[in-house]
Amino acid sequence: TRALVWFRNDLRLADHPALQAALRAGLEPVPVYVHAPEEEGEWAPGAASDAWRQRSLLALDADLRARGSRLQVVRGPTLPTLQRLAAQVGAEAVFWNRRYEPVIEARDAAIKRALRADGLRAESHNGALLYEPWQLQTKNGDPYRVFTPFWRTALGQWRLPALAGAPPRLPAPPAIEGAVSIDTLGLQPASRWDAGFWSVWTPGEHGAHDAAQRFITSACADYHDRRDRPDLVGTSRLSPHLHFGEIAPWRVVNLLDAVPAGADRDVFVRELGWREFAHHLLHHFPHTPGANFNPRFDGFPWAQPSVRQLQAWQRGRTGIPIVDAGMRELWHTGWMHNRVRMIVASFLSKNLRVHWQHGARWFWDTLVDADLANNTLGWQWVAGTGADAAPYYRVFNPVLQAQKFDPCGDYIARWVPELADLPPAQRHQPWTGVMPRGYATPIVDLARSRKDALDALARNGR
Ligand code: FAD
Repeated sequence: TRALVWFRNDLRLADHPALQAALRAGLEPVPVYVHAPEEEGEWAPGAASDAWRQRSLLALDADLRARGSRLQVVRGPTLPTLQRLAAQVGAEAVFWNRRYEPVIEARDAAIKRALRADGLRAESHNGALLYEPWQLQTKNGDPYRVFTPFWRTALGQWRLPALAGAPPRLPAPPAIEGAVSIDTLGLQPASRWDAGFWSVWTPGEHGAHDAAQRFITSACADYHDRRDRPDLVGTSRLSPHLHFGEIAPWRVVNLLDAVPAGADRDVFVRELGWREFAHHLLHHFPHTPGANFNPRFDGFPWAQPSVRQLQAWQRGRTGIPIVDAGMRELWHTGWMHNRVRMIVASFLSKNLRVHWQHGARWFWDTLVDADLANNTLGWQWVAGTGADAAPYYRVFNPVLQAQKFDPCGDYIARWVPELADLPPAQRHQPWTGVMPRGYATPIVDLARSRKDALDALARNGR
């Protein structure tokens, strides 16, 4: 007898609890992917996520085929599709790994109930997190709102799942009526604006493992010192792989055994901890992708952004070099360095005083690692509206930040070629000399806008 293994954001074969559960139960796994983005509501995947997903699905299908199986791709709606497929292939069970976006959690709970009511065994597993959102709580039984105590508790209860290699062979699944090819899902952008992504990224499980291995053998040993430097390759670049579940976080932690214990390793694991914390918050405070975590900001006088201002920010034409470099890196590669994400988010939400939701939406559409938990946490943290957020008086000075973290302006020169011929020190603030042709003058006065933001924030209360 058979089981459907319903793949979602767990596009891998190793360390796959749902697949393992099917095999353990002695059932023949039938791998399925149901395409129903409209069920994700307001936060249906953006264009960069779609482009990544297309390639990741192809990679998963290739890995399944190499083992004698294949991915059956069907268009939704999900529940009737799973019911139909189960009946068609004579499956007695459906297994999947959990997702934690509020709309998906609710949908999946309803699916589980309905499948069970049909007499099927319906089981979900943890395939994405070191700690599921409900596992850790304060002494009073409340969710955490501050990272440090959350992480202290997490480390105190440290226990990782055992590793499970990809099964070497899988049974050939039966033909499924209505199955379509991945290429027909319309995930690939028609204008191919993603062309630049694929010299930087390799979606899929092999790409994820290679990235993890590269990080372990090169950057990890200097992570503590180099992780804030956008001009160097100092971080793992695992975020899209983790988002799409191409590698399990506990596999990443396990690989760290090859690195000497110490600050680099601890700081890196702590970053994985922020990912855990973000999922904890999203689960317990499901309204926060669309509303301030801190309600004091509900009446905050955000500026009504002009189309010109927003577009200047989105396309990297603000006249502030580090901001423009970051926004162009995002546009061309689908990713931006964390330090620069903080700088561009602070510039938008504080210097331009534009509501953080505008920024979160743009990131959602353009990041290959767009992740509702991490993106919401990141934006609310920088805007000062979030749980455990940056204090209200923290307005990043993009010139000082660039001088500190991109000291020779190499990152700026790479993404803003108009400034590449300037002496390094001038790249951070080209207006101090003769402005190069073709580069914008700043769309806002940094000192003045900083003061205005601080005044507004102080009036809003601390
Ligand atoms: P590394 O430094 O190698 O960290 C390893 C992993 O830890 C990352 O892959 C990621 O999964 C996790 N991680 C690291 N930093 C954070 C963090 N601050 N919060 C949560 N998880 C973290 N990350 C996303 O994955 N998706 C998003 O949509 C996203 N949006 C963001 C928006 C803003 C405004 C900000 C400030 C940050 C955002 N981040 C987001 C967090 C962070 O910038 C990225 O996870 C990180 O840059 C990814 O690069 P890396 O894999 O090389 O990170």
